[in-house]
Amino acid sequence: MTIIKTVQAGNPIIHTRSIDVTDFSSEETKRVITDLIDTMRAEDLVGMAAPQIGENVRIFVTEVRETVYRKEGVDKLRIFINPKVVNVSEKLVSGYEGCGSVASAQFFGPVERPEEITVEAVDENGATFKHTADSLLARVIQHEIDHLDGILFHEKISDMKKVMSKEEYVKTRGK
Ligand SMILES: [Zn+2]
Repeated sequence: MTIIKTVQAGNPIIHTRSIDVTDFSSEETKRVITDLIDTMRAEDLVGMAAPQIGENVRIFVTEVRETVYRKEGVDKLRIFINPKVVNVSEKLVSGYEGCGSVASAQFFGPVERPEEITVEAVDENGATFKHTADSLLARVIQHEIDHLDGILFHEKISDMKKVMSKEEYVKTRGK
């Protein structure tokens, strides 16, 4: 089990567009996936992208787990390699986000994103799959794809006056 120190905003790695994975079964690809899962869980995040552990390759993982302030939208562990957005809903929804790479997830702010998204990607066995997500998972997937393009959520915050510390966010859930 390897937990990697999360790369923070300001480090060029986190602001760089990552490259496609070409060898899905390589030891290197397997290691990135395992390190992402271990680090996401250790940092109590619901998604994590490879640049956050210092690797500029197009891989991210998601796992929406139950916490003291989040009981809905729980979802299994998913691995996305070379994800492509196939479709997004016209309807946008606003929701609070935080990020392990932005002030170590102590900073939350509202971001508007499509409510539903369909993504095509390759899984850890090299098989292509398509997945449609809504609610929190749709938001997490879009946040992680932004990481692969070198974009951080705070660049998209719709109203800076609504930014909160994690402590206040957990108390109010952004209300
Ligand atoms: Zn993030």
